[in-house]
Amino acid sequence: MPERWTPDSWRRKPIQQVPDFPDMDALGAVEKQLSTFPPLVFAGEARSLKRQLARVAAGECFLLQGGDCAESFAEHGANNIRDFFRVFLQMAVVLTYAAASPVVKVGRIAGQFAKPRSSPTETRGGVALPSYRGDIVNDNEFTAEGRIPDPRRQIEAYRQSAATLNLLRAFAQGGYANLGSVHQWMLGFVKDSPQSRRYMELADRISEALGFMQACGLDLERHPELRGTELYTSHEALLLGYEEALTRVDSTSGDWYCTSGHMLWIGDRTRQLDHAHVEYCRGIRNPIGLKCGPSMKADDLMRLIEVLDPENEPGRLTLICRMGADRVGELLTPLVRAVAREKRNVIWSCDPMHANTISSASGYKTRPFDRILQEVKGFFAVHAAEGTIAGGVHLEMTGQNVTECTGGARAISDEDLNSRYHTFCDPRLNAEQSIDLAFLLAELLKK
Ligand code: PEP
Ligand code: MN
Repeated sequence: MPERWTPDSWRRKPIQQVPDFPDMDALGAVEKQLSTFPPLVFAGEARSLKRQLARVAAGECFLLQGGDCAESFAEHGANNIRDFFRVFLQMAVVLTYAAASPVVKVGRIAGQFAKPRSSPTETRGGVALPSYRGDIVNDNEFTAEGRIPDPRRQIEAYRQSAATLNLLRAFAQGGYANLGSVHQWMLGFVKDSPQSRRYMELADRISEALGFMQACGLDLERHPELRGTELYTSHEALLLGYEEALTRVDSTSGDWYCTSGHMLWIGDRTRQLDHAHVEYCRGIRNPIGLKCGPSMKADDLMRLIEVLDPENEPGRLTLICRMGADRVGELLTPLVRAVAREKRNVIWSCDPMHANTISSASGYKTRPFDRILQEVKGFFAVHAAEGTIAGGVHLEMTGQNVTECTGGARAISDEDLNSRYHTFCDPRLNAEQSIDLAFLLAELLKK
């Protein structure tokens, strides 16, 4: 029988990936202040996402989750947010139209600041400093001072999340996402690419269909589904003091919700059954994600599912698998079989990014586009073979024209990486590569 859960019961468990805060009193003061701040999202919204995800689990919708590996304070701005929103909408339109599948959109945004690291220190030119753990903890700049964890950054992250969310809500509901604007979402730099022709053809067909419906007498303005969209937020629940401070009782149900984002996930490095991150997440009622890397074994997974989703509630748990292009068949199949045997209502999602990272000859951390595609195809193949549902994808992507992942229609090479390599953490798909991937997904979904 597990002990009673409280928002701070995680503090009595072993924990990984904790920053070395030099001043615990200052940290406590910040957490106290955050606990008085307004919620960023509402319990009712998290519940509505859970209902949507229940449809994904049943194979009626597809989950599109994506965004930066890490949001940054320096790159916070309206254009960045708009460009992400726009490419995300375009991908969703491609999937909805080409695969005739409704899409549940969940951004890695408005709270995705904290990063787990493989080593607590980073060494450059013989100097060792604490690793960068995301802007919510310390500075990316490689200086002794910058790398000291500073709790005041949590206040800054909260405020940036609030501003980002405010703009996203306006984009989603204030007219920008009207399906009648499907042509206008075309990004400047995608215009002369091979995907742009494909996308514009699809946009033409959507416009025609809308015109036809209107001519038949349907008043499109009266349909909120066509006038706007829903975009949910998500991030890794890593910095638990911050999450605890934003954990609130929902006045309508009496349940606890984390109000820093709609969906939270547990990273592959912090998913130990008896540790703090699993303890925290089991008690909140939001939809939860669990990253499953190559070391995940079927019996460990079943124990985690039992703790995180004891009621087998559809929409509660998304398993975000990141096995690598070469090993996805071998590693995913036993997990899918174990879950099916126990009739667990999970959502299977594919993160084709995190197990396909390599060091390029030019010294950059990169991900070859064809390896990403290969893992996605392998993921679909496993589900086709097992008769289970390939529910979604989890991507690191941006609306910017960066050069961080090699390959794609423009064949970004190792030498091109230094041209626009802007990420604060892991390499992201750029807008063209993201749309390219959406067309491939549409093909896979149609099968
Ligand atoms: C991430 O999603 O950025 C991440 C660190 O993933 P994982 O926990 O799967 O390594
Ligand atoms: Mn990442």
